[in-house]
Amino acid sequence: MEYVVSHIPQGTACNRRSAYKMIPTTITIHNTGNPSSTARNERDWLTNPSNARQASFHIVVDERQAIECIPLIENAWHAGDGSGVNSGNRTSIGIEICESGNYAKTLDNAAELVAKMLKERGWGTDRLRRHFDWSGKICPRLMYDGGNWTGWKTFVASVDAKLKPKEDVRMPEEVAVQVDGKKVGVGEIKDGVTKVPVRLVAEAFGANVLWDAKTRTVNITKKEAV
Ligand SMILES: [Zn+2]
Repeated sequence: MEYVVSHIPQGTACNRRSAYKMIPTTITIHNTGNPSSTARNERDWLTNPSNARQASFHIVVDERQAIECIPLIENAWHAGDGSGVNSGNRTSIGIEICESGNYAKTLDNAAELVAKMLKERGWGTDRLRRHFDWSGKICPRLMYDGGNWTGWKTFVASVDAKLKPKEDVRMPEEVAVQVDGKKVGVGEIKDGVTKVPVRLVAEAFGANVLWDAKTRTVNITKKEAV
């Protein structure tokens, strides 16, 4: 996905680029609320003379690109909770997710972008907010699901998945298994646990190994099976 920096000018109407300095502590997710507008449309709306609203945002994402409209070290007016120093407007990076085009692709782009931003800052998904969290507005509306917010949970999970380091899926490491200096088989280290074939080890100690399929239990006994 292409990342374009296209800042609206200082002095843009309605104080949309306020020039309050900001040290962001969270990232806030929105839907644009417009089923047909692209990221470029949303960016252009911020400098359209017929736009009479103060609302603004930092980044807008669609199926093909992300456009940064306001520097991430300045505030934007996206959270609907005023201008207090602890408001979402003054502390949070606002990301608008477009509703037009291939929405699944757009969502994946947004998750990719957000994961990258969290990673760069050493943050986890606990830093993510909905517009709803600041002002109670039903936004991001396409994640609302009648108040269940299933789309939101799915989105956060997909960001989490992208944050997980790739090493977590590395191949198991093979280990040799010896009993009293005699090799009895091969095991592996998987997820930090050494796993060995129980039959080979138990039998090397002279024990019987019985498999109870019904209860899915391995029974190791020194007595004869009955
Ligand atoms: Zn919103």
